[in-house]
Amino acid sequence: MSRGPRSLVTGGAGFLGSHLCDRLIQEGHEVICIDNLITGDMDHVAHLLGHAGFRFIKYDVTEYLYVEGPLNYILHFASPASPVDYQRLPIQTLKVGSLGTHKALGLAKAKGARLLLASTSEVYGDPQVHPQPESYWGHVNPVGPRGVYDEAKRFAEAMTMAYHRYHGVETRIARIFNTFGPRMRPHDGRVVSNFLMQALEGRPLTVYGDGTQTRSFCFVSDMVDGLFRLLMSSGVEPVNLGNPAERSIRDLVAAVEAILGRRLEVTFNPLPQDDPRVRRPDITRARERLGWEPKVELEAGLRETIAYFRGKGVGA
Ligand code: UDP
Repeated sequence: MSRGPRSLVTGGAGFLGSHLCDRLIQEGHEVICIDNLITGDMDHVAHLLGHAGFRFIKYDVTEYLYVEGPLNYILHFASPASPVDYQRLPIQTLKVGSLGTHKALGLAKAKGARLLLASTSEVYGDPQVHPQPESYWGHVNPVGPRGVYDEAKRFAEAMTMAYHRYHGVETRIARIFNTFGPRMRPHDGRVVSNFLMQALEGRPLTVYGDGTQTRSFCFVSDMVDGLFRLLMSSGVEPVNLGNPAERSIRDLVAAVEAILGRRLEVTFNPLPQDDPRVRRPDITRARERLGWEPKVELEAGLRETIAYFRGKGVGA
């Protein structure tokens, strides 16, 4: 049976990775999904297990990485991504960004595959340029608690460019800004999942700091579309992917209140160390090169995420 392209997704049972597996299967790819399940979840890919074009391998990509047969694309998405997770798993985070990226690039070189690296807005740290264009080099504290993620991803970008320049590997780098939606882990500690879980369970919403810090929240279907377009595009420079609609954390509380139609109690907790004050992507490059921009409004995305959590029995 002749199949379409053959793609490997590391972190394929994670939040973004599993949505990417779905998209690649829809596009006619044969998909090999690798995950060590430290923050991934088999439930996210359970519906794909019977599919002839899908294979799951439980594996740690920081170990020697090899798969039989040809590969056209490697999407390197393995990593803890929530601040709570990467501070709980600091060594694994550093290892998957460094050793894991090295292994994925080595496999890309061996197979002549194109590699898409999942990088992050965290490469900009607590930014002193706002909004953040790809040309900004960032403001990162290497020895702070977030350094384990930020520096791992910065190293991963440097390693990716080295494999491109030195070995001629075809590479793409996505700088992914805050993304939310179905398959976020209810207890992953990020602001959207925390607020929705707290609201649905009748607990106060935990605002860190005074809630005037900003983020720009992208719904997962928009993100996956941007990632797929980037994978298929030309051009090796990093591309910001995110929703430029910037909101304060207080705005996010108000959005959840508006959707649920009631006032919500808020408790103010200390702001974590090195928490970025502001964050908003400049997506000019994504617009020009990928013809991409997000379509889903925050409120619509929150409604879908609430429905997902309710479907898992939250607040029942
Ligand atoms: N935050 C909050 N309450 C929470 C969780 C997070 O106020 O329960 C804040 C956090 O301090 C940060 C923003 O929300 O300013 C986004 O945090 P998140 O952990 O989602 O991701 P980050 O963008 O910091 O990587």
